[in-house]
Amino acid sequence: MIDCLIVGAGPAGSVMAKEMASRGFETLVVEKRQEIGAPKRCAEGITLRGLKYIGIDIHPLGISGRIKGAMLYAPSGKKVVMEGDEMEGYVLERKVFEKDLAAKAIKAGARYMVKTQAIGMERENGAWKVRVRGMDGEMEIKTRLVVGADGVESKVGKWAGLKTVNRITDYHSGIQFEMAGVNADEKYIHLFFGRDVAPLGYAWIFPKAFSANVGLGILEKAAKMKAYDYLKKFIEEHEEFFKNAQPIEINGGGVPVAHFTRMVADGVMLVGDAAQLVNPIHGGGIARAMHSSVMAAEVAEKALKKGELSEDILIEYERKWDEEYGEKTRKLMKLRAFLEKLEDKDFETLADILEGEDIYSLTQAKMTFFLKKLITKPSLLSLAKKYLMD
Ligand SMILES: Cc1cc2nc3c(=O)[nH]c(=O)nc-3n(C[C@H](O)[C@H](O)[C@H](O)COP(=O)(O)OP(=O)(O)OC[C@H]3O[C@@H](n4cnc5c(N)ncnc54)[C@H](O)[C@@H]3O)c2cc1C
Repeated sequence: MIDCLIVGAGPAGSVMAKEMASRGFETLVVEKRQEIGAPKRCAEGITLRGLKYIGIDIHPLGISGRIKGAMLYAPSGKKVVMEGDEMEGYVLERKVFEKDLAAKAIKAGARYMVKTQAIGMERENGAWKVRVRGMDGEMEIKTRLVVGADGVESKVGKWAGLKTVNRITDYHSGIQFEMAGVNADEKYIHLFFGRDVAPLGYAWIFPKAFSANVGLGILEKAAKMKAYDYLKKFIEEHEEFFKNAQPIEINGGGVPVAHFTRMVADGVMLVGDAAQLVNPIHGGGIARAMHSSVMAAEVAEKALKKGELSEDILIEYERKWDEEYGEKTRKLMKLRAFLEKLEDKDFETLADILEGEDIYSLTQAKMTFFLKKLITKPSLLSLAKKYLMD
């Protein structure tokens, strides 16, 4: 019988492992992939602010690009630049970043089994018996606590009896090439909007040391073709960036842009994408995934020490999360509903009127500036109505 079995060694799983092992709990991580961190399903962007807030240090080898802001492009190509301390960040090398997180957990005392998949679990005498399949065949692991850090396709929540499947409209489909030879200002991430660019999503270029992540996320229901075809079209239509560029990797995945599931059950906690904790506006989830694990570990420590791992005790984690992120996430969901109503001409209006700092406020769900701007920019009125009407 171990204290804590963590399913998945992404950012959420390895931060949880380090937090638990460093508190002296017997901690095991199972990861179905043969290599931690690869293949990535991510554009690898993260803000310094997010990292500092949760107190995570990144090994220099895990950093592939340093960013001082974002350039946002309306469908016509009109550009708005966002800069400032809040916008500074990194483009990571996730293969290295995730291995570094795992190494830190191992140093703290956690054990890891790679190429080992959790395939089911059942409750027995107040503990969980988790079946795993790995290089040496199948085995059962008895544990007091199971942490589902198994990403967007999480099974742990489902096995624990939680409702984990969301409306299809709350998932975005992401597709991405890592490309060499891209000609884009490497101090910025570049974001492109428009119904024909990426329906109800956006396209991006995230520059790295000698390549760039070039991808897009769309809402399939609003799309006329597959995400892959939008990406090919985007690359064809932007010779200024991609004239001499070639793909060196292709990857993709789903982004759960609405948080809906319960995060705990008896002896079970869900962290990161498994609990759909990404930012519902831009789909970034690495920082939130790691932060959820920091919070979950504080509650798990108390519960394990008391020997009481019922849902009623573990629910404190869900409350903590809601206190910190609940209100902001609800506002961002409302903002997302508004952005989904915008047509291409509305993006042009916004690009004409808003400055970088206004857009930053928007992404932080601070809408008051928008209403104040109405006094001087009456052309915002129709957009304000779209925002207020729900
Ligand atoms: C195209 C795309 C671009 C993105 N870009 C960004 C970005 O730029 N910045 C950002 O912050 N976020 C981005 N995200 C989101 C980000 O990738 C996730 O929010 C983040 O990876 C969540 O971390 P996690 O540890 O919860 O899950 P994951 O990173 O998905 O890790 C889950 C792990 O669990 C393992 N696993 C799953 N099932 C099992 C099982 N049964 N047994 C054992 N192991 C299992 C998986 O193999 C995986 O290693 C992007 C997502 C996509 C799809």
